[in-house]
Amino acid sequence: MKKAAKILIPVLVVLLIGGLIGGYVWYNLTYHPSKWLAEGDDAVLAAEDYQQSLETLPVLENTWQEALPQTAVYDLIKAHFASPLPEGKTEKKAIVIGYDGCQVDTFRLLATAKKSAINMLLSDGGHAVFSFAGGVNFPAENTQATSTAPGWCSMLTGAWADVHHINNNGQPKEVEPKTLLLSLVEDGTVDKSAFYVSWDGHFSKKDATYYPEKVYARENGVNATYRRALFDPGTKFNILSDLRKKDCSDFIFSTLEYTDHAGHGSGFGLGNPKYISAFRDAEATGADIIETITERPTYDSEDWLILITTDHGGIGGSHGGPSIEERITFIVSNKDILTVVNPQPENKA
Ligand SMILES: [Zn+2]
Repeated sequence: MKKAAKILIPVLVVLLIGGLIGGYVWYNLTYHPSKWLAEGDDAVLAAEDYQQSLETLPVLENTWQEALPQTAVYDLIKAHFASPLPEGKTEKKAIVIGYDGCQVDTFRLLATAKKSAINMLLSDGGHAVFSFAGGVNFPAENTQATSTAPGWCSMLTGAWADVHHINNNGQPKEVEPKTLLLSLVEDGTVDKSAFYVSWDGHFSKKDATYYPEKVYARENGVNATYRRALFDPGTKFNILSDLRKKDCSDFIFSTLEYTDHAGHGSGFGLGNPKYISAFRDAEATGADIIETITERPTYDSEDWLILITTDHGGIGGSHGGPSIEERITFIVSNKDILTVVNPQPENKA
């Protein structure tokens, strides 16, 4: 028996380690296509001239040269809560569904989508516009990195890095200037806000952007939730769980990592089937979120603002730089955009 154990145990250990390594390699090398892929998605659709390709994108109501600063997301949310309640409505709510690292060129995929949050908003009277990251519009030299933390921070504070001081990832932000998650609750505009993500750089590490804010909210009794899941399906679960509550959060800010992960893993852009697949997954998740909102028993008496946007695009396997692929982004809303915010880029201090 002892002799058998002497042989068996090393064999089992080798099999276990081999299995773990093999499984890891297999998982990382195997392409997991989205079940939402459409006919033709495997074809190479990437434009040879990206700048020129932006001239022919569907549904966008401005040109990329007239793109709104991404800080317009802040203005749209503020304007929504400041505007009077429409007749028959008793409560205002807003949600931002963020697709991290999503090139605007993905709009070419809308026409063939099986399940698309953007199409849902647009077919129900919504609007879509070009926006830009980087502090100033292309081709002027960018004043802010087209990186994750600066981008979302500009939307949450309505300011660029010269004011919010977030120049890159891994920089804890001062509590001031306050994000909408804090300010809307503290000034009594809403009862509670929530921030749902899977990226640990938002508020889960000591050097994360909103780690100090999360501590501030807890210590000062601000009714703001900061919840991180390990992966996007977990983020979706957290959002849907909130939305299914009778008294759900009034302002929800969320980011999905599908497109950013695919871009860093194997390349940003429509030339990469994995990137297309990731966009399809983000869009299907967004559609589930919108469906859950419209299924709320109190939906008819609620005035919702639903925004879909991105923090930056990407080029090759990265972003952060000045290229038009990284700079030009988009904002989609269930409500009007261009009549609400000033189309002239401005730097609010
Ligand atoms: Zn990002």
